[in-house]
Amino acid sequence: MNFHEILTGQRALFSSQKTKNLNFRKMYLEKLKTVITDHQNLLCEAIYSDFGKSEFDTFTTEISFVLKDIDYYLKNLKRLAGPKKVWTNLVNQFASSKIYTEPLGCTLVIGAWNYPYQLSLSPVVASLAAGNTCILKPSEVAEHSMKAMAKIINENFPKDYLHVVEGGVEETTELLKLKFDKIFFTGSPRVGKIVYEAAAKHLTPVTLELGGKSPAIVTSHADFEVAAKRIVWGKFLNAGQTCVAPDYILVDEKVKESFLDAMTQYLKKFSYTADAKHYTRIINTRNFERLTRLIDPEKVYHGGNSDAAIRYIEPTLLHNISWDDTVMQEEIFGPILPVLTFQNFNEALLRISEQEKPLAAYLFSGNAEEKELFTQKISFGGGCINDVMMHLSNDHLPFGGVGNSGMGNYHGKYGFEAFSHQKSVLDRATWGEPNLKYPPYTDEKLNWIKRLM
Ligand code: NAD
Repeated sequence: MNFHEILTGQRALFSSQKTKNLNFRKMYLEKLKTVITDHQNLLCEAIYSDFGKSEFDTFTTEISFVLKDIDYYLKNLKRLAGPKKVWTNLVNQFASSKIYTEPLGCTLVIGAWNYPYQLSLSPVVASLAAGNTCILKPSEVAEHSMKAMAKIINENFPKDYLHVVEGGVEETTELLKLKFDKIFFTGSPRVGKIVYEAAAKHLTPVTLELGGKSPAIVTSHADFEVAAKRIVWGKFLNAGQTCVAPDYILVDEKVKESFLDAMTQYLKKFSYTADAKHYTRIINTRNFERLTRLIDPEKVYHGGNSDAAIRYIEPTLLHNISWDDTVMQEEIFGPILPVLTFQNFNEALLRISEQEKPLAAYLFSGNAEEKELFTQKISFGGGCINDVMMHLSNDHLPFGGVGNSGMGNYHGKYGFEAFSHQKSVLDRATWGEPNLKYPPYTDEKLNWIKRLM
Protein backbone atom coordinates (compact mmCIF):
# COMPACT_ATOMS: atom_id res chain seq x y z
CA MET A 1 0.00 0.00 0.00
CA ASN A 2 1.25 3.45 -0.84
CA PHE A 3 1.11 5.36 2.45
CA HIS A 4 2.45 8.50 0.83
CA GLU A 5 -0.56 8.54 -1.48
CA ILE A 6 -3.01 8.20 1.42
CA LEU A 7 -1.31 11.01 3.30
CA THR A 8 -1.28 13.23 0.21
CA GLY A 9 -5.03 12.69 -0.11
CA GLN A 10 -5.52 13.53 3.56
CA ARG A 11 -3.38 16.65 3.23
CA ALA A 12 -5.46 17.83 0.28
CA LEU A 13 -8.65 17.34 2.28
CA PHE A 14 -7.21 19.17 5.28
CA SER A 15 -6.04 22.05 3.07
CA SER A 16 -9.57 22.37 1.66
CA GLN A 17 -10.62 23.50 5.20
CA LYS A 18 -13.53 21.04 5.20
CA THR A 19 -12.44 19.14 8.31
CA LYS A 20 -12.50 22.37 10.33
CA ASN A 21 -16.22 22.77 9.83
CA LEU A 22 -18.05 21.79 13.04
CA ASN A 23 -20.96 20.17 11.21
CA PHE A 24 -18.51 18.09 9.18
CA ARG A 25 -16.81 16.90 12.38
CA LYS A 26 -20.15 16.14 14.06
CA MET A 27 -21.44 14.24 11.03
CA TYR A 28 -18.43 11.91 11.04
CA LEU A 29 -18.39 11.49 14.82
CA GLU A 30 -22.05 10.44 14.62
CA LYS A 31 -21.15 8.13 11.78
CA LEU A 32 -18.35 6.52 13.77
CA LYS A 33 -20.77 6.01 16.64
CA THR A 34 -23.25 4.28 14.34
CA VAL A 35 -20.57 2.14 12.71
CA ILE A 36 -19.23 0.97 16.09
CA THR A 37 -22.71 0.37 17.51
CA ASP A 38 -23.84 -1.56 14.43
CA HIS A 39 -20.75 -3.77 14.48
CA GLN A 40 -20.52 -4.53 18.19
CA ASN A 41 -20.90 -8.26 17.61
CA LEU A 42 -18.11 -8.30 15.05
CA LEU A 43 -15.85 -6.34 17.42
CA CYS A 44 -16.64 -8.65 20.35
CA GLU A 45 -16.02 -11.79 18.30
CA ALA A 46 -12.72 -10.47 16.96
CA ILE A 47 -11.32 -9.58 20.37
CA TYR A 48 -12.52 -12.92 21.76
CA SER A 49 -10.56 -14.67 19.00
CA ASP A 50 -7.48 -12.67 19.91
CA PHE A 51 -7.38 -13.32 23.65
CA GLY A 52 -10.67 -14.61 24.94
CA LYS A 53 -11.87 -11.26 26.24
CA SER A 54 -15.49 -11.50 27.39
CA GLU A 55 -18.32 -9.43 25.93
CA PHE A 56 -18.78 -7.83 29.37
CA ASP A 57 -15.16 -6.64 29.52
CA THR A 58 -15.17 -5.63 25.85
CA PHE A 59 -18.20 -3.45 26.38
CA THR A 60 -17.20 -1.93 29.72
CA THR A 61 -13.50 -1.34 29.02
CA GLU A 62 -13.44 -0.77 25.27
CA ILE A 63 -16.60 0.01 23.35
CA SER A 64 -18.36 2.07 26.04
CA PHE A 65 -15.18 4.16 26.46
CA VAL A 66 -15.11 5.08 22.80
CA LEU A 67 -18.86 5.78 22.61
CA LYS A 68 -18.61 7.93 25.75
CA ASP A 69 -15.76 9.92 24.14
CA ILE A 70 -17.81 10.51 20.99
CA ASP A 71 -20.76 11.74 23.07
CA TYR A 72 -18.49 14.02 25.07
CA TYR A 73 -17.09 15.70 21.96
CA LEU A 74 -20.50 15.94 20.26
CA LYS A 75 -21.80 17.72 23.33
CA ASN A 76 -18.80 19.98 23.94
CA LEU A 77 -17.47 20.58 20.44
CA LYS A 78 -18.59 24.17 20.08
CA ARG A 79 -17.11 25.16 23.42
CA LEU A 80 -13.84 23.32 22.86
CA ALA A 81 -13.29 24.53 19.30
CA GLY A 82 -14.44 28.13 19.74
CA PRO A 83 -12.11 31.09 20.34
CA LYS A 84 -11.46 32.02 23.96
CA LYS A 85 -11.20 35.67 24.93
CA VAL A 86 -8.49 36.46 27.48
CA TRP A 87 -7.31 39.60 29.31
CA THR A 88 -5.08 42.09 27.53
CA ASN A 89 -2.26 43.60 29.61
CA LEU A 90 -1.78 47.33 30.06
CA VAL A 91 1.15 47.61 27.64
CA ASN A 92 -1.03 46.35 24.80
CA GLN A 93 -4.04 48.60 25.32
CA PHE A 94 -6.19 49.17 23.38
CA ALA A 95 -6.66 45.65 22.00
CA SER A 96 -8.55 42.41 22.42
CA SER A 97 -6.77 39.06 22.91
CA LYS A 98 -8.08 35.68 21.84
CA ILE A 99 -6.89 32.10 21.71
CA TYR A 100 -7.98 30.26 18.58
CA THR A 101 -7.93 26.49 18.83
CA GLU A 102 -6.94 25.07 15.46
CA PRO A 103 -6.45 21.47 14.31
CA LEU A 104 -2.85 20.41 13.76
CA GLY A 105 -3.51 18.79 10.37
CA CYS A 106 -2.75 15.20 9.35
CA THR A 107 -2.35 12.89 12.30
CA LEU A 108 -1.07 9.37 12.89
CA VAL A 109 -2.38 7.20 15.74
CA ILE A 110 -0.43 4.05 16.61
CA GLY A 111 -2.25 1.70 18.97
CA ALA A 112 -1.31 -1.05 21.43
CA TRP A 113 -2.86 -4.53 21.54
CA ASN A 114 -4.03 -4.86 25.14
CA TYR A 115 -7.15 -2.68 24.79
CA PRO A 116 -7.14 -2.69 21.00
CA TYR A 117 -10.35 -0.70 20.49
CA GLN A 118 -10.11 1.80 23.30
CA LEU A 119 -6.43 2.64 22.79
CA SER A 120 -6.79 2.99 19.01
CA LEU A 121 -10.21 4.58 18.65
CA SER A 122 -10.26 7.01 21.59
CA PRO A 123 -7.30 9.00 20.20
CA VAL A 124 -8.89 8.80 16.73
CA VAL A 125 -12.11 10.30 18.12
CA ALA A 126 -10.15 13.13 19.78
CA SER A 127 -8.22 13.77 16.56
CA LEU A 128 -11.33 13.97 14.38
CA ALA A 129 -13.19 16.06 16.97
CA ALA A 130 -10.30 18.52 16.92
CA GLY A 131 -10.68 18.84 13.13
CA ASN A 132 -7.81 16.72 11.82
CA THR A 133 -7.52 13.89 9.33
CA CYS A 134 -6.22 10.61 10.71
CA ILE A 135 -4.38 7.44 9.79
CA LEU A 136 -4.75 4.70 12.41
CA LYS A 137 -2.23 1.88 12.71
CA PRO A 138 -3.58 -0.53 15.36
CA SER A 139 -1.36 -3.19 16.86
CA GLU A 140 -0.90 -6.27 14.68
CA VAL A 141 -0.52 -8.36 17.83
CA ALA A 142 -4.32 -8.35 18.36
CA GLU A 143 -4.75 -9.33 14.73
CA HIS A 144 -8.48 -10.03 14.58
CA SER A 145 -9.29 -6.79 16.37
CA MET A 146 -7.04 -4.87 13.99
CA LYS A 147 -8.78 -6.44 10.99
CA ALA A 148 -12.22 -5.73 12.44
CA MET A 149 -11.35 -2.03 12.90
CA ALA A 150 -9.88 -1.85 9.39
CA LYS A 151 -13.03 -3.41 7.94
CA ILE A 152 -15.61 -1.24 9.66
CA ILE A 153 -13.69 2.01 9.22
CA ASN A 154 -12.29 1.57 5.73
CA GLU A 155 -15.68 0.49 4.39
CA ASN A 156 -17.43 3.49 5.90
CA PHE A 157 -15.01 6.43 5.80
CA PRO A 158 -13.29 8.22 2.93
CA LYS A 159 -9.62 7.26 2.77
CA ASP A 160 -8.58 10.89 2.61
CA TYR A 161 -10.22 11.57 5.99
CA LEU A 162 -9.82 8.47 8.16
CA HIS A 163 -8.05 5.29 7.21
CA VAL A 164 -6.82 2.20 9.02
CA VAL A 165 -3.49 0.74 7.97
CA GLU A 166 -2.98 -2.91 8.87
CA GLY A 167 0.51 -4.09 9.70
CA GLY A 168 3.36 -4.34 12.14
CA VAL A 169 6.91 -3.08 12.47
CA GLU A 170 7.56 -2.80 8.73
CA GLU A 171 4.42 -0.77 8.00
CA THR A 172 4.88 1.43 11.08
CA THR A 173 8.48 2.10 10.07
CA GLU A 174 7.31 3.22 6.61
CA LEU A 175 4.57 5.42 8.09
CA LEU A 176 7.03 7.03 10.48
CA LYS A 177 9.16 8.23 7.56
CA LEU A 178 6.32 10.50 6.47
CA LYS A 179 5.75 14.01 7.72
CA PHE A 180 2.68 14.08 9.97
CA ASP A 181 1.50 17.05 11.99
CA LYS A 182 0.97 14.93 15.11
CA ILE A 183 1.81 11.39 16.17
CA PHE A 184 -0.09 9.80 19.03
CA PHE A 185 1.56 6.58 20.18
CA THR A 186 0.50 4.02 22.78
CA GLY A 187 2.93 1.22 23.58
CA SER A 188 6.18 0.36 25.27
CA PRO A 189 8.90 2.84 26.27
CA ARG A 190 11.26 0.95 23.90
CA VAL A 191 9.14 1.63 20.81
CA GLY A 192 8.19 5.06 22.17
CA LYS A 193 11.82 6.08 21.72
CA ILE A 194 11.78 4.88 18.09
CA VAL A 195 8.64 6.91 17.43
CA TYR A 196 10.05 10.00 19.16
CA GLU A 197 13.25 9.81 17.12
CA ALA A 198 11.36 9.44 13.84
CA ALA A 199 9.05 12.34 14.76
CA ALA A 200 12.02 14.57 15.62
CA LYS A 201 13.23 14.39 12.00
CA HIS A 202 10.13 16.37 10.97
CA LEU A 203 9.71 18.26 14.26
CA THR A 204 6.37 16.50 14.58
CA PRO A 205 4.80 16.84 18.04
CA VAL A 206 4.10 13.58 19.83
CA THR A 207 2.00 12.22 22.62
CA LEU A 208 3.60 9.08 24.02
CA GLU A 209 1.39 6.89 26.18
CA LEU A 210 3.86 4.36 27.58
CA GLY A 211 4.08 1.92 30.47
CA GLY A 212 6.18 0.95 33.46
CA LYS A 213 5.97 -0.64 36.85
CA SER A 214 3.04 0.91 38.73
CA PRO A 215 3.13 0.35 42.51
CA ALA A 216 0.23 -0.13 44.92
CA ILE A 217 1.08 0.75 48.52
CA VAL A 218 -0.97 -0.76 51.34
CA THR A 219 -0.35 0.75 54.76
CA SER A 220 -1.47 -0.33 58.20
CA HIS A 221 -4.19 2.36 57.97
CA ALA A 222 -5.81 0.69 54.96
CA ASP A 223 -9.18 -1.02 54.89
CA PHE A 224 -7.83 -4.46 53.85
CA GLU A 225 -11.16 -5.78 52.59
CA VAL A 226 -11.58 -2.84 50.24
CA ALA A 227 -7.90 -2.83 49.24
CA ALA A 228 -7.86 -6.56 48.49
CA LYS A 229 -11.12 -6.47 46.54
CA ARG A 230 -10.13 -3.50 44.38
CA ILE A 231 -6.55 -4.62 43.77
CA VAL A 232 -7.62 -8.13 42.80
CA TRP A 233 -10.21 -6.74 40.38
CA GLY A 234 -7.81 -4.20 38.82
CA LYS A 235 -4.80 -6.48 38.61
CA PHE A 236 -6.55 -9.47 37.08
CA LEU A 237 -8.89 -7.60 34.73
CA ASN A 238 -7.69 -8.43 31.21
CA ALA A 239 -5.37 -10.98 32.92
CA GLY A 240 -3.11 -8.19 34.12
CA GLN A 241 -2.49 -6.97 30.58
CA THR A 242 -3.36 -3.39 31.51
CA CYS A 243 -0.89 -0.51 31.37
CA VAL A 244 -2.18 0.98 34.66
CA ALA A 245 -2.65 -2.32 36.52
CA PRO A 246 -0.78 -2.47 39.83
CA ASP A 247 2.52 -4.08 38.85
CA TYR A 248 3.64 -4.80 42.40
CA ILE A 249 2.47 -4.28 45.96
CA LEU A 250 4.32 -2.64 48.79
CA VAL A 251 2.61 -3.61 52.02
CA ASP A 252 3.45 -2.64 55.58
CA GLU A 253 5.24 -5.67 57.05
CA LYS A 254 3.02 -5.58 60.16
CA VAL A 255 -0.14 -6.21 58.15
CA LYS A 256 1.21 -8.38 55.36
CA GLU A 257 -0.41 -11.61 56.53
CA SER A 258 -3.93 -10.21 57.00
CA PHE A 259 -3.72 -8.39 53.68
CA LEU A 260 -2.51 -11.47 51.76
CA ASP A 261 -5.27 -13.45 53.39
CA ALA A 262 -7.89 -10.94 52.23
CA MET A 263 -6.41 -11.03 48.69
CA THR A 264 -6.64 -14.83 48.63
CA GLN A 265 -10.29 -14.72 49.70
CA TYR A 266 -11.15 -12.41 46.80
CA LEU A 267 -9.14 -14.45 44.31
CA LYS A 268 -11.24 -17.47 45.27
CA LYS A 269 -14.47 -15.49 45.25
CA PHE A 270 -13.86 -14.03 41.79
CA SER A 271 -13.06 -17.51 40.47
CA TYR A 272 -10.48 -17.00 37.74
CA THR A 273 -10.45 -20.67 36.78
CA ALA A 274 -9.17 -22.02 33.47
CA ASP A 275 -12.73 -22.40 32.20
CA ALA A 276 -13.98 -19.01 33.49
CA LYS A 277 -15.55 -17.04 30.65
CA HIS A 278 -14.76 -13.75 32.39
CA TYR A 279 -11.03 -14.34 32.62
CA THR A 280 -8.96 -13.22 29.63
CA ARG A 281 -6.15 -15.26 28.09
CA ILE A 282 -2.55 -14.22 27.49
CA ILE A 283 -2.29 -12.57 24.10
CA ASN A 284 0.28 -14.95 22.53
CA THR A 285 2.77 -17.74 23.21
CA ARG A 286 5.72 -15.36 23.39
CA ASN A 287 4.11 -13.44 26.25
CA PHE A 288 2.85 -16.65 27.88
CA GLU A 289 6.40 -17.98 28.00
CA ARG A 290 7.84 -14.67 29.18
CA LEU A 291 5.30 -14.54 32.02
CA THR A 292 5.59 -18.14 33.18
CA ARG A 293 9.36 -17.64 33.41
CA LEU A 294 8.68 -14.86 35.94
CA ILE A 295 6.94 -17.24 38.34
CA ASP A 296 9.49 -18.51 40.85
CA PRO A 297 7.76 -21.61 42.35
CA GLU A 298 9.51 -21.04 45.66
CA LYS A 299 7.88 -17.65 46.03
CA VAL A 300 4.31 -18.51 45.08
CA TYR A 301 1.84 -17.57 47.81
CA HIS A 302 -1.25 -18.30 45.76
CA GLY A 303 -1.78 -19.62 42.21
CA GLY A 304 1.18 -20.36 39.97
CA ASN A 305 -0.56 -22.80 37.62
CA SER A 306 -0.75 -22.37 33.87
CA ASP A 307 -1.88 -24.15 30.71
CA ALA A 308 0.07 -23.38 27.56
CA ALA A 309 -2.54 -24.96 25.27
CA ILE A 310 -5.09 -22.28 26.16
CA ARG A 311 -2.60 -19.58 27.20
CA TYR A 312 -4.06 -19.54 30.70
CA ILE A 313 -2.09 -18.28 33.66
CA GLU A 314 -3.75 -18.48 37.05
CA PRO A 315 -3.70 -15.24 39.04
CA THR A 316 -0.50 -15.56 41.00
CA LEU A 317 0.61 -13.85 44.18
CA LEU A 318 4.34 -13.94 44.87
CA HIS A 319 5.72 -13.18 48.32
CA ASN A 320 9.13 -12.83 49.97
CA ILE A 321 10.10 -10.76 46.97
CA SER A 322 13.04 -8.37 46.95
CA TRP A 323 13.85 -5.51 44.59
CA ASP A 324 16.56 -7.65 42.98
CA ASP A 325 14.22 -10.45 41.88
CA THR A 326 13.78 -10.91 38.11
CA VAL A 327 10.08 -10.12 38.39
CA MET A 328 11.02 -6.62 39.64
CA GLN A 329 13.30 -5.82 36.68
CA GLU A 330 10.64 -5.32 33.97
CA GLU A 331 6.99 -4.35 33.57
CA ILE A 332 5.06 -7.59 34.22
CA PHE A 333 1.99 -6.97 32.04
CA GLY A 334 0.32 -10.20 33.09
CA PRO A 335 -1.49 -11.89 36.02
CA ILE A 336 1.47 -12.08 38.38
CA LEU A 337 1.55 -9.88 41.46
CA PRO A 338 4.73 -9.66 43.53
CA VAL A 339 4.30 -8.48 47.10
CA LEU A 340 7.13 -6.61 48.81
CA THR A 341 7.07 -5.27 52.34
CA PHE A 342 8.20 -2.08 54.03
CA GLN A 343 8.75 -0.99 57.60
CA ASN A 344 8.69 2.73 57.11
CA PHE A 345 6.25 4.54 54.83
CA ASN A 346 8.73 7.28 53.85
CA GLU A 347 11.31 4.68 52.90
CA ALA A 348 8.74 2.96 50.68
CA LEU A 349 8.13 6.27 48.90
CA LEU A 350 11.87 6.78 48.54
CA ARG A 351 12.26 3.33 46.97
CA ILE A 352 9.54 4.15 44.45
CA SER A 353 11.13 7.47 43.56
CA GLU A 354 14.42 5.70 42.85
CA GLN A 355 12.74 3.74 40.04
CA GLU A 356 11.62 5.08 36.64
CA LYS A 357 8.54 7.30 37.02
CA PRO A 358 5.53 4.97 36.77
CA LEU A 359 2.41 5.49 34.67
CA ALA A 360 0.25 4.99 37.76
CA ALA A 361 0.58 4.69 41.53
CA TYR A 362 -1.98 3.68 44.14
CA LEU A 363 -2.21 4.18 47.87
CA PHE A 364 -4.51 2.30 50.22
CA SER A 365 -4.70 4.21 53.46
CA GLY A 366 -7.16 6.09 55.63
CA ASN A 367 -4.44 8.34 57.05
CA ALA A 368 -4.45 11.97 55.90
CA GLU A 369 -0.72 12.47 56.35
CA GLU A 370 0.13 9.38 54.31
CA LYS A 371 -2.20 10.57 51.55
CA GLU A 372 -0.49 13.95 51.53
CA LEU A 373 3.00 12.43 51.41
CA PHE A 374 1.96 10.06 48.63
CA THR A 375 0.66 12.87 46.40
CA GLN A 376 3.53 15.25 47.17
CA LYS A 377 6.64 13.10 47.35
CA ILE A 378 6.54 10.74 44.37
CA SER A 379 6.09 11.44 40.69
CA PHE A 380 3.74 9.28 38.59
CA GLY A 381 1.44 9.76 35.60
CA GLY A 382 -1.79 9.54 37.59
CA GLY A 383 -3.36 7.33 40.19
CA CYS A 384 -5.87 6.72 42.94
CA ILE A 385 -6.14 6.69 46.68
CA ASN A 386 -8.09 3.66 47.92
CA ASP A 387 -8.74 2.40 44.41
CA VAL A 388 -6.89 1.32 41.29
CA MET A 389 -7.21 2.37 37.65
CA MET A 390 -10.52 4.24 38.01
CA HIS A 391 -8.84 7.64 37.56
CA LEU A 392 -8.73 7.02 33.84
CA SER A 393 -12.50 6.70 33.65
CA ASN A 394 -12.97 10.32 34.80
CA ASP A 395 -12.82 12.55 31.72
CA HIS A 396 -12.11 15.59 33.86
CA LEU A 397 -8.70 14.13 34.69
CA PRO A 398 -5.90 14.17 32.09
CA PHE A 399 -4.54 10.68 31.43
CA GLY A 400 -0.88 10.20 30.58
CA GLY A 401 2.56 9.34 31.85
CA VAL A 402 5.62 11.26 32.99
CA GLY A 403 9.29 10.58 32.30
CA ASN A 404 9.75 6.98 31.18
CA SER A 405 5.98 6.34 31.24
CA GLY A 406 5.25 8.93 28.57
CA MET A 407 4.62 12.54 27.66
CA GLY A 408 1.43 14.44 27.01
CA ASN A 409 -2.03 13.29 27.97
CA TYR A 410 -5.57 12.85 26.72
CA HIS A 411 -9.23 12.12 27.66
CA GLY A 412 -11.98 14.77 27.61
CA LYS A 413 -10.77 18.27 26.86
CA TYR A 414 -7.15 17.10 27.21
CA GLY A 415 -7.60 14.80 24.21
CA PHE A 416 -8.92 17.69 22.19
CA GLU A 417 -5.94 19.81 23.22
CA ALA A 418 -3.49 17.01 22.37
CA PHE A 419 -4.59 17.27 18.74
CA SER A 420 -4.89 21.07 18.61
CA HIS A 421 -2.71 24.12 18.43
CA GLN A 422 -3.52 27.13 20.60
CA LYS A 423 -3.08 30.12 18.31
CA SER A 424 -2.78 33.46 20.11
CA VAL A 425 -4.04 36.58 18.36
CA LEU A 426 -3.82 40.15 19.64
CA ASP A 427 -6.21 42.43 17.75
CA ARG A 428 -4.94 45.97 18.22
CA ALA A 429 -6.86 49.23 17.78
CA THR A 430 -5.31 51.68 15.33
CA TRP A 431 -5.77 54.53 17.78
CA GLY A 432 -4.85 55.48 21.35
CA GLU A 433 -1.25 54.23 21.30
CA PRO A 434 1.38 56.12 23.35
CA ASN A 435 4.56 56.53 21.30
CA LEU A 436 6.72 54.96 24.00
CA LYS A 437 8.24 52.00 22.12
CA TYR A 438 9.30 53.92 19.04
CA PRO A 439 12.67 55.66 18.53
CA PRO A 440 14.12 58.02 19.26
CA TYR A 441 14.48 56.54 22.76
CA THR A 442 14.60 59.03 25.64
CA ASP A 443 15.08 58.79 29.40
CA GLU A 444 11.56 60.02 29.87
CA LYS A 445 10.19 57.18 27.72
CA LEU A 446 12.29 54.65 29.63
CA ASN A 447 10.98 55.94 32.95
CA TRP A 448 7.43 55.57 31.72
CA ILE A 449 8.09 52.02 30.49
CA LYS A 450 9.65 51.08 33.83
CA ARG A 451 6.59 52.42 35.61
CA LEU A 452 4.16 50.61 33.27
CA MET A 453 5.93 47.27 33.39
P1 NAD B 1 4.69 -2.09 21.56
O1 NAD B 1 5.50 -0.90 21.87
O2 NAD B 1 5.36 -3.37 21.29
O3 NAD B 1 3.77 -1.82 20.26
C1 NAD B 1 2.98 -0.67 20.11
C2 NAD B 1 2.86 -0.33 18.65
O4 NAD B 1 4.14 -0.08 18.08
C3 NAD B 1 2.21 -1.42 17.78
O5 NAD B 1 1.26 -0.83 16.93
C4 NAD B 1 3.37 -2.00 17.00
O6 NAD B 1 3.01 -2.43 15.72
C5 NAD B 1 4.34 -0.83 16.90
N1 NAD B 1 5.74 -1.26 16.88
C6 NAD B 1 6.28 -2.32 17.53
N2 NAD B 1 7.62 -2.38 17.30
C7 NAD B 1 7.91 -1.35 16.48
C8 NAD B 1 9.12 -0.86 15.88
N3 NAD B 1 10.29 -1.49 16.07
N4 NAD B 1 9.03 0.22 15.08
C9 NAD B 1 7.87 0.85 14.88
N5 NAD B 1 6.70 0.43 15.43
C10 NAD B 1 6.71 -0.64 16.20
O7 NAD B 1 3.65 -2.21 22.77
P2 NAD B 1 2.52 -3.29 23.03
O8 NAD B 1 3.16 -4.62 23.28
O9 NAD B 1 1.47 -3.21 21.99
O10 NAD B 1 1.90 -2.74 24.38
C11 NAD B 1 2.47 -2.99 25.63
C12 NAD B 1 3.13 -1.76 26.20
O11 NAD B 1 2.31 -0.62 26.01
C13 NAD B 1 3.33 -1.85 27.70
O12 NAD B 1 4.55 -1.23 28.05
C14 NAD B 1 2.17 -1.04 28.26
O13 NAD B 1 2.37 -0.53 29.55
C15 NAD B 1 2.07 0.04 27.24
N6 NAD B 1 0.73 0.61 27.22
C16 NAD B 1 0.55 1.90 27.60
C17 NAD B 1 -0.72 2.44 27.62
C18 NAD B 1 -0.98 3.86 28.03
O14 NAD B 1 -2.11 4.31 27.87
N7 NAD B 1 -0.01 4.58 28.57
C19 NAD B 1 -1.80 1.65 27.24
C20 NAD B 1 -1.57 0.34 26.86
C21 NAD B 1 -0.30 -0.18 26.84
